Amino acid sequence: MTQTAKQPRILIIYTGGTIGMVETPDGLQPFDFSHLMDNVPKIGKLGYDIKSVQFANPIDSSNMNPTYWGQIVKDIADNYDEFDGFVVLHGTDTMAYTASALSFMLRNLRKPVVITGSQLPIGAVREDGTENLISAVEVAAAKDENGDPMIQEVVISFQDYIVRGCRATKFTSTGFDAFKSFNYPVLGDIDLHITYNTPYLMRHDTKLPLEPFYAMDSNLLVLWLYPGITEEVVKAQLATPGIKAVVLRTFGAGNAPTEKWFLDAITDAVNRGLIVYNVTQCLNGGDEQKRYYTGDMLSKAGVISGYDITAEAAITKLMYLIGSGYTPDEIKQYLQVSMVGELSD
Ligand code: ASP
Repeated sequence: MTQTAKQPRILIIYTGGTIGMVETPDGLQPFDFSHLMDNVPKIGKLGYDIKSVQFANPIDSSNMNPTYWGQIVKDIADNYDEFDGFVVLHGTDTMAYTASALSFMLRNLRKPVVITGSQLPIGAVREDGTENLISAVEVAAAKDENGDPMIQEVVISFQDYIVRGCRATKFTSTGFDAFKSFNYPVLGDIDLHITYNTPYLMRHDTKLPLEPFYAMDSNLLVLWLYPGITEEVVKAQLATPGIKAVVLRTFGAGNAPTEKWFLDAITDAVNRGLIVYNVTQCLNGGDEQKRYYTGDMLSKAGVISGYDITAEAAITKLMYLIGSGYTPDEIKQYLQVSMVGELSD
């Protein structure tokens, strides 16, 4: 890592989650990040200029929603010019959704936004929070050989790896390495040294000003297929009032039943103007909707393939596209191209 002579300025945004809790006589409590140095004195050894802000009421990330995402985006936008990098401390449960959402909402991002958390709180005897926090701060401060930020996108830095935010999935509730990027190489390894997988880092041709986006629209449905799913269940879900899109969680390479009632229900949804987006239930690989007859039927019904997108990125990309006010045809176009690195070429 090459560093400029200037002391890196890092803003930590604490939203809640296990990492920010300390053991008190009354049990685990979120600590006040304005006293960061008292709680994590080791961080002072980095020699960075670190400031922090926090949610008024830190949340368990199971309560995360688009309004809170907007708050994080605003904290970053309001402080964008003042800081070299941003660290978002977040519960692990919905961290991959937030990482995907921020990837779309922070338009023209050119600085590091590094999300981390932990499986055990900083105050616990055996814990992963301190190291995750310190590593994330280092990642947010890292520069490349040109003196530009090493990370110019939203990433999750957790235990031994740095992964692209819109490719991440939480895959274990107990292991310390909680996040994996199944369809895109890791962006960096955190061991004795922090090393970057430079060919896979996001780089930009243009330097545009940050354009924060706040109008995520969550009127969508996730329809998870399983053998034996009934016509009543499918039709009731597709009739949900107000929805504009359906993430269809399919089998294997993007396959679904070919029974007439099912294809009629999907065709009817498409004809009513709903975007139906095919996202496989498999974590690794992706849709090849035209490979099998059972997937090709979906293409013929007007279903859009999700290729190798994660469910988290699919859901938040739809929230972003619907919220942007695009027409259904425009949304279908955008779903088929990678906007922030969420799809492979
Ligand atoms: N339930 C917690 C949360 O997501 C778990 C964690 O922080 O790891 O906020």
